[in-house]
Amino acid sequence: MTSPRVVVVGAGQGGLETAAALRGRGFSGRITLVGDECVLPYQRPPLSKGFLTGATGATDPADLELRPASFFATQGIDLVPGDRAERIDRECRVLHLESGAALPYDHLVLATGARPRPLPVPGAGLSGVLALRGLRDAHTLRRELSGPARHLVVVGAGFIGLELAATARTLGHEVTVVEAQSRALARALTPEMSAWLTDEHRRQGVRLLLSREVAALHGDPSGQVEIMELDGGERIPAELVVVGIGVLPHTELAAEADLVVGDGIVVDERLRTSDPAIHAVGDCARFPRPGARGHTRIESVQNASDQARCVAADICGEGAPYTAVPWFWSEQYAVRLQIAGLTAGHDEVVLAGDPGEARFSVFCFQAGRLVGVESVNRPADHGIARRLLAGGTDLSPEEVGAPGFDLKQYQRAPAPAPAPAPVTAPRERPVHVAHA
Ligand code: ADP
Repeated sequence: MTSPRVVVVGAGQGGLETAAALRGRGFSGRITLVGDECVLPYQRPPLSKGFLTGATGATDPADLELRPASFFATQGIDLVPGDRAERIDRECRVLHLESGAALPYDHLVLATGARPRPLPVPGAGLSGVLALRGLRDAHTLRRELSGPARHLVVVGAGFIGLELAATARTLGHEVTVVEAQSRALARALTPEMSAWLTDEHRRQGVRLLLSREVAALHGDPSGQVEIMELDGGERIPAELVVVGIGVLPHTELAAEADLVVGDGIVVDERLRTSDPAIHAVGDCARFPRPGARGHTRIESVQNASDQARCVAADICGEGAPYTAVPWFWSEQYAVRLQIAGLTAGHDEVVLAGDPGEARFSVFCFQAGRLVGVESVNRPADHGIARRLLAGGTDLSPEEVGAPGFDLKQYQRAPAPAPAPAPVTAPRERPVHVAHA
């Protein structure tokens, strides 16, 4: 019997980790990793932070490599850079590449990621209007930000937008952020954390406009952007515009192969698509979360890496449903923001610590059960919260709100079996404040 062949499409975090985890499990078949970029797989998180300022030393693309070139040789992983998957022939189990190559597979893993959502306004194609996704974008942005102070406008107060705003402000640029919703990071953060972060940006001198829409961008005769027109007609100087209004998952390859897609490639709890020979991981995968209704798509390094390990196990015949606790982090100025769990749907929050000192956590509960913890400069809270959420916990809002509460007391608590998350309609959200 010939050994099985795995082909992975997409050489980002999820794709690379799938290949590495397969070898880590002793998979002895052929592994091919196809990526459309011409460089070795790299880390993306520094691209909106240290890579732009040089502050963390991560200024050289080689510093960002997830694995050195030698790794691929020693692990027997065939890396195919600079080529694109064009078509999946599911019947014959062959992946066709743009170069004309045809790769037979027994298992195909789609780790195709996502692309920035374009700004749907007139003038969005002017020069000086940028998005940030890959290394090439980051090089352009670094060049633009390395010169004298300019008027930068960031569209979208999500993670990318706010990290860029902080980076540009740190480099001395005048920064305006235009956000369509009534608060920053509405998708990911509680209103409490969102308000605190908005204040922090304003303290740092960012003009952060909420509930505002971009109407158009206007350029000079050479086609360089110079003015942003907002809803209502206000015109603001915009020598550089960075668009961070979310991403669109790459689903075309899957859709053309008649796999089920929605906002992402739809997979089951083992991350198998509607064809069991094909898995999907990372930003492009829409998966069922245990205890939650419907499917979710998560854009994070943790999710890509943990899903990659889950798929590798499934391919090796040792699969189990994907149940990892999601976690995220962001760095803006001296703020290290960490999020454990998913806080959407919470109905009660309790604050612990001191927001005035930029050291606090927001504990989020749904029907009395802990569903997530957002921390600013409290890494211990984050670490313990992840373990508590993974093990299931009976930590109550009253305990967190009690005087002298310290999460460290709970870190060795026996972990009860996880209870299924109740699906309840959001209630009023009482806020408690506890002092550490
Ligand atoms: P990203 O990964 O790009 O940061 P997020 O979804 O976290 O993506 O954040 C995108 C932000 O952009 C959200 O806060 C969203 O409300 C905002 N947004 C979306 N469309 C627009 C728009 N046309 N103008 C301004 N803000 C927008």
